[in-house]
Amino acid sequence: MEGEQVALLVRGLRSGTPSADHRAELALPGVRLSCRAEVELDADGAPVRLTGVVRDVTAQHETEARARHAARRFADLAALVPAGIAIVDSDGHIREANPALCALLDVAPEQLRGLPVAALSAEPVDTGRTALDGPLNPLPTWLRPVPPGSAHRYRVEDVPLLRGDGTTVWCELAVSATTLDDDGWLWLVACTDVGEQRRAAELLRSAGTVDELTRLPNRAATLALLDRLLARPGGERVAVVCGDIDDFQRVNSALGHDAGDELLVAMAGRLQRELPVGCTAGRLAADEFVVVSGDVDEAGGADALAATVGDLLRTTVTVRGRPVQLTASVGIAVPQSDVEVTAADLLRFSEVAMHDAKRSCRGGVALATDRVLAATQALELEGELRAALAADALVLEYQPVIGPDGLVRSAEALVRWPHPERGVIPPGEFLPVAQRGGMLRELDEWVLRTATREAADWPEHGGRPVAVAVNLAGLLPGDPAFRATVNDIVTGAGLPWDRLVLEVVDTSLVALPPHALAAMDRLVQCGVQFAVDDFGTGYSSLARLKELPAQIVKVDRAFVAGVGRDPADFAVARAVVEMAQAMGRSTVAEGVETTEQYHVLRGIGVDAFQGWLFSRALPPWQLRELLAGERVAVPPAPAAS
Ligand code: C2E
Ligand code: CA
Ligand code: CA
Repeated sequence: MEGEQVALLVRGLRSGTPSADHRAELALPGVRLSCRAEVELDADGAPVRLTGVVRDVTAQHETEARARHAARRFADLAALVPAGIAIVDSDGHIREANPALCALLDVAPEQLRGLPVAALSAEPVDTGRTALDGPLNPLPTWLRPVPPGSAHRYRVEDVPLLRGDGTTVWCELAVSATTLDDDGWLWLVACTDVGEQRRAAELLRSAGTVDELTRLPNRAATLALLDRLLARPGGERVAVVCGDIDDFQRVNSALGHDAGDELLVAMAGRLQRELPVGCTAGRLAADEFVVVSGDVDEAGGADALAATVGDLLRTTVTVRGRPVQLTASVGIAVPQSDVEVTAADLLRFSEVAMHDAKRSCRGGVALATDRVLAATQALELEGELRAALAADALVLEYQPVIGPDGLVRSAEALVRWPHPERGVIPPGEFLPVAQRGGMLRELDEWVLRTATREAADWPEHGGRPVAVAVNLAGLLPGDPAFRATVNDIVTGAGLPWDRLVLEVVDTSLVALPPHALAAMDRLVQCGVQFAVDDFGTGYSSLARLKELPAQIVKVDRAFVAGVGRDPADFAVARAVVEMAQAMGRSTVAEGVETTEQYHVLRGIGVDAFQGWLFSRALPPWQLRELLAGERVAVPPAPAAS
């Protein structure tokens, strides 16, 4: 030792009470010394001689300091984290507990320190105990012995722990062990309160929104999720992918239903683990999975997302030790920009697309196209239309047909469908639906019944009775029951026969069998008038007009529109009117919108006019008002030049 260091050492030893045994620790630059010495003093108490040991304890000191710092850091960290943390001795006693654990169990830190950890377990049979009562077993079941030399880390879900007040808190535990220098160990236990999750899961289960087998959201939960996603901003980027395992029945019959179930659980797990972030998997039916993406752009676009789901469902799964090769058909649907789409629509579109994919090839992928969307929408509409018809939920408007004298001759019944969600649907949109659904005849009967009933007590207009015109597309003269049906309805309504016009397109009037012509003839004898609707379109030729058993010819809007500027339209209109006159039929021009059209049509001899220039189609009460009032204003003839 250097002289200076010895002097320091002596000083240090001297500062203590003189005795036979002196200890001191000296911190010198770069070293730390531990000294133990006997001091021999002279008569005045001054040290004469030191005998003892000086040890270099630098390394030991540093180790201890590091351990202290580490312990401090650990304590700071443990105080910070929201999870409850306990350090448990190898004999099962709690050595430390962080504030979160104390809060979780509602006990003070000093009550936990030294407590056997098994006391925290809430055994269902063991009611009345609290966290502070004695343990049942030295170690709880969730604390597994630490195997020597190997890593020890595991999780235990749903462990009921006892709180200070005797209530139970459900926790998920993460356990690991840390080894000590002396080969002993400590358990580290992190507890997370999963009570809320359990309650939510319980709620879902009780509300029937979790698929029992795979624990995935079921159809109802998927719809609810979709609803939420569609309603928030960016809802137009939602995508729904429906994936259906091909030939799943084969798995069931070859390996049994339990194996099939196992396979479905495996697929569900695979989807949950490997789907892109922002995607949620659900199960719709037996082997039909669904994936909902909140942002299809984030998932790389519709095609990429469909491919990803397809790849996840196309895999080999080992069931009962046997590899099962699976393929799946996938359909994807995204909202169309121009139509409002509901969650149910979108889900169904994806299913239809999936069936499309399945039809075209096993393992295929299909995008719900406009055609699919239209088809499914129509299918849905069809059901709704059927219900609306049965519930009398359609309405009629009436568009007046006016003579040049401003008197209303007749009013054409035009059907509308006030749809609860889509607003009023015009006939052009739902008549094709009625046709596909085979409902045209039923619709015609409804309109005929409603229109004749409503028209029965229409006021006269300017002293002249007003006829009602009804379009027929399903109830046609060719139908053997045509005359009887019309007869029942019209007599039921109490409408005079001569106040009824039946409008039929020319294609329904050609080559009629004798019984149909006879039926029409009988009705005409009674006073009914038939009108050829939309004349000039379709297959009608002028020559055919001669054969058509109709008293009125309606010149189609298509010609009326161009009558003032297009010589061809003018020529057709004029030819139709002349021909009709020559055959003793009256003419009505449809879709008259301008004074110019009116003058031209009037000039070629058209008898009556229908169009927005005079009146739009009106609800029944407005038509009555119109009929009860003055003549309709008709443009005055242009001054002769
Ligand atoms: P339509 O028999 O040719 O009826 C005339 C259509 O032209 C009506 O359309 C009417 O609102 C429209 N219109 C009238 N004036 C004008 C105008 O000045 N300009 C323009 N641009 N359009 C005008 P709506 O009501 O949409 O009916 C469309 C078609 O649906 C009808 O054509 C008819 O074929 C069919 N339809 C309407 N109601 C019924 C019904 O009750 N039964 C059957 N079977 N078919 C109906
Ligand atoms: Ca018509
Ligand atoms: Ca027409």
